[in-house]
Amino acid sequence: MLEDNSQCPQWILGLLTEKFFNACLIHEDLKKNEKNIFCLDCCEGICAHCSQVHHSHRLLQIRRYVYHDVLRLGDAEKLMDCAYVQSYTTNSAKVVFLNQRPQTRPSRGSGNICTTCDRALQDPYFFCSLSCKVHKYLCNTKEYVFFFRFLIPTQFIFSNFPISAPPLFFFFFF
Ligand SMILES: [Zn+2]
Ligand SMILES: [Zn+2]
Ligand SMILES: [Zn+2]
Repeated sequence: MLEDNSQCPQWILGLLTEKFFNACLIHEDLKKNEKNIFCLDCCEGICAHCSQVHHSHRLLQIRRYVYHDVLRLGDAEKLMDCAYVQSYTTNSAKVVFLNQRPQTRPSRGSGNICTTCDRALQDPYFFCSLSCKVHKYLCNTKEYVFFFRFLIPTQFIFSNFPISAPPLFFFFFF
């Protein structure tokens, strides 16, 4: 299990297990209190109101695409090597899914499938989500240090993250 792997950076464990878009318990009474930001320094999901407390931390915007959590590909690539993870274009931005999505029927048999969960994929891809790549990679290699780009603390700014303004989280709602 991913959770048992002590070699895995804490932030990826937190990122892949956090339940985003639930209401923030600290700001239950406020509007726009969905947890749609992940603090890489605290390893927790936070809402726009919380982000003021975490303003000096590295914050990652989580978005929604077809009812599932996604990252902008540009943001995800600052965190880990996203090669062969299937990306989708929405509103002219490329996004990748954080986790596997439930499947109604197995897609084994024909065509290209996710190496971890067997979901049908387009041709040049091996993984349906970041989670599937993390699982496969950690099971098969000790070279995880080359895989994650976020082991050493560095300051970088994620694409279009509005530090001073509430995040534009309606952008990916349909
Ligand atoms: Zn924080
Ligand atoms: Zn909050
Ligand atoms: Zn998969």
